[in-house]
Amino acid sequence: MSLIVQKYGGTSVGNPERIRNVAERIAEWRRRGDRVVVVVSAMSGVTDSLIKLAREVCAEPAEREMDMLLATGEQTTISLLAMALHAIGIPAVSLTGAQAGIVTDGRHTKAKIANLTPNQVKRHLADGAVVIVAGFQGQTMEGQITTLGRGGSDLTAIAIAAAVQAEVCQIYTDVDGVYTADPRVVPNATKIQEIAYDEMLELASAGAKVMQARAVEFAKKFNVRFEVRSSFNNNPGTIVKAETKSMEQVVVRGVSVEKNQAKVTISGVPDRPGIAAKLFQTIAEAGVNVDMIVQNVSQSGEADITFTLHRDDVKKANNITASISELSRARAVTVQEGIAKLSVVGIGMRSHSGVASSLFVALSEQGINIQMISTSEIKITVVIDEARSAEAERAVHDKFGLNVAR
Ligand code: ASP
Ligand code: MG
Repeated sequence: MSLIVQKYGGTSVGNPERIRNVAERIAEWRRRGDRVVVVVSAMSGVTDSLIKLAREVCAEPAEREMDMLLATGEQTTISLLAMALHAIGIPAVSLTGAQAGIVTDGRHTKAKIANLTPNQVKRHLADGAVVIVAGFQGQTMEGQITTLGRGGSDLTAIAIAAAVQAEVCQIYTDVDGVYTADPRVVPNATKIQEIAYDEMLELASAGAKVMQARAVEFAKKFNVRFEVRSSFNNNPGTIVKAETKSMEQVVVRGVSVEKNQAKVTISGVPDRPGIAAKLFQTIAEAGVNVDMIVQNVSQSGEADITFTLHRDDVKKANNITASISELSRARAVTVQEGIAKLSVVGIGMRSHSGVASSLFVALSEQGINIQMISTSEIKITVVIDEARSAEAERAVHDKFGLNVAR
């Protein structure tokens, strides 16, 4: 008999039939004798439509009121799921984030969990009930409702699992697990059985949006082993856990592509201390989120600086090209869309060499040009033409032999 935490995402509780289906699944785990705490998201699309509603009544809604509004999405699903469990004879109690003891700081819409004392959760579990906790929300010390940032139900689940010392935390979603590449693009992508926290984080930051990154960071910090699996079948999912020596045998765990990127090139910048500082201060002040930055070796006292940004920020970038060029005395500032970032990720890179060269060979065999390169300890990223990103993803996936299940 063990204690498990299950989290069901928005698609899994997207309509009444699916909520009844989730109730059946919970009942099954209980029949095995497990005690279950369930964390749920709002029904799919609800959070987005609440945000839309807010914008229809106010151009810039106050963040406190946004939290008040968005928290209702999860409150709908916890109560409905409790009712669905009652309907099949299972004792269940729904709790808001505050009732579950989730105390956060006061940063509305992106609050951080400060403290979690799940007394009510424990009490209802001891009484034999399934405890259903609203994901994504918490409460400040002063009793204000807060939310934990988009996708925050994942964080709620991991934090509760840590606090009640659950055996496992199962993250139920609409995909089977974490794949070696996007299966819609790479048909022979395979499900990864085990992945280290850092690999999961790098894949997520590189566009494989299976889980909220903050939730993975939290899991790493508190060593919460979790499993990403589907709520639509009984297949085992992907286990995310602390790394082990044997996990380093695999050089590349997965490849991921982030589209909708753009790059800004500032050419002919005087090679002097303070220029980059001023430049990026201006860019930050304009609210442009900068990702990869590359500066070439200067030639005759001039350098080129290139950085990538999300396509959403292109307008903001365009607005400041004139001031960038004036500030940095650059010869030209260009903004280019239609690029993508392709990354290969694996903790095995720490102990294996030749990963970069294999990646570059795979791309050159397809005649795909590399526009920028950046590396970290367990990740190599290249910027390529967006139109060829699918081709590139398939070629790189093959090159690293990722189509073989392991
Ligand atoms: N409902 C929230 C969102 O859509 C939280 C979550 O689903 O995890 O971001
Ligand atoms: Mg989610």
